[in-house]
Amino acid sequence: MTKEASAAAHDGRDTLFARLDLVAGSVRYQEYYRRRPELKPGDDSLRNRGGLMRLVVGGGLTVEQLQALHPRPDEVTRVLDHLTDEALVQALIDDSTPTVEEYTRADLARKPSPRKVQLPAAVASTLLKEVARFYGAALVGVTELTPGDYYSHRRSGEPVTRVFRSAIVFAVEMSRNLIDRAPRRETLLATCNGYVDAARAGARLSGFIKSLGYETSLNTMVRYDIPLVPVAERAGLGQRGRCHFIVTPEFGNRVRLGAILTDLPLQTDSPRDFGLLEFCALCGRCAVSCPGKALSGQPAIINDRPRWRFDEIKCFTTWTEYATDCGICIAACPFSRNPDPAKVAYMKEQPDLMWDILREDRQQESQTQLP
Ligand code: SF4
Ligand code: SF4
Repeated sequence: MTKEASAAAHDGRDTLFARLDLVAGSVRYQEYYRRRPELKPGDDSLRNRGGLMRLVVGGGLTVEQLQALHPRPDEVTRVLDHLTDEALVQALIDDSTPTVEEYTRADLARKPSPRKVQLPAAVASTLLKEVARFYGAALVGVTELTPGDYYSHRRSGEPVTRVFRSAIVFAVEMSRNLIDRAPRRETLLATCNGYVDAARAGARLSGFIKSLGYETSLNTMVRYDIPLVPVAERAGLGQRGRCHFIVTPEFGNRVRLGAILTDLPLQTDSPRDFGLLEFCALCGRCAVSCPGKALSGQPAIINDRPRWRFDEIKCFTTWTEYATDCGICIAACPFSRNPDPAKVAYMKEQPDLMWDILREDRQQESQTQLP
């Protein structure tokens, strides 16, 4: 049965990436800012700075240099040795969006099997989580969806018309080695790789569910039906931190998210309160480290829950200054740096452990020498 996402509380056209897709002076640009005039000055200032990514492209590529690139995670150090100029970095970054688009198109073209496999909800959830991990997800959870979870329109402007019962939300880990170099260009490679890894794992999981006879909607960087952070919180992957993103106990915010929406009956997970709100109040490292001052201030209370303030224009202005996607707040988070899992597991009940985690993180940082 097709239901309208009529109660949608979000609009994908309001995300900053969608807004910056609008060409200044075009009909869509004028229509959009007639509706949202308050966003125009900040967005125009980013446009005037040349957009979010303005890598300086210099030098030429030889065929030998290109053939020498093998962008696989286990060879990343060797790849970086070849990245002697921005053109080589740009080539790797430019490869990521078309790759995500290819996975997304292939998934949209694939039809569910006519034979529906019937499984008890608990069994189906366990199976899908195992398959997701097998395909590359580091963390997986399941949550129920309501029409209010959906965007009314995707970033492209296309209306979202199909509402599914559940979301399988997953996270892929981004390379710590690369993120630790924030805000250098290696951060961009880590995030681009993260989006591709999430699209690959998601496309395969979606294909698996279609083989079981159920329809799906694959949510990747190029096609979101829902904002992923709130559903990732509900599915127990982590909590939204002061950095404005999901912070997982296992990998901090050094993750990229993906989701598959489906009507396959599934058993849902519960949110995980591991004490992040209290920890963020003690820590504040992302806010102190943020060069754009985008994370300062006290939390606002939204729907009875504290939400830390995030100024997206200040953040993305910093991106244009560094000509990368910054990532300093990801590298700065103690949870991104693999703290002792036993202490993280009990820090909510024993807050003294939070100080231990912070102290050990400082020690670890002072001993880390990046090449
Ligand atoms: S990405 Fe950089 S500028 Fe943006 S919030 Fe994080 S640290 Fe601040
Ligand atoms: S750096 Fe500290 S304050 Fe920021 S999200 Fe991580 S734990 Fe919270």
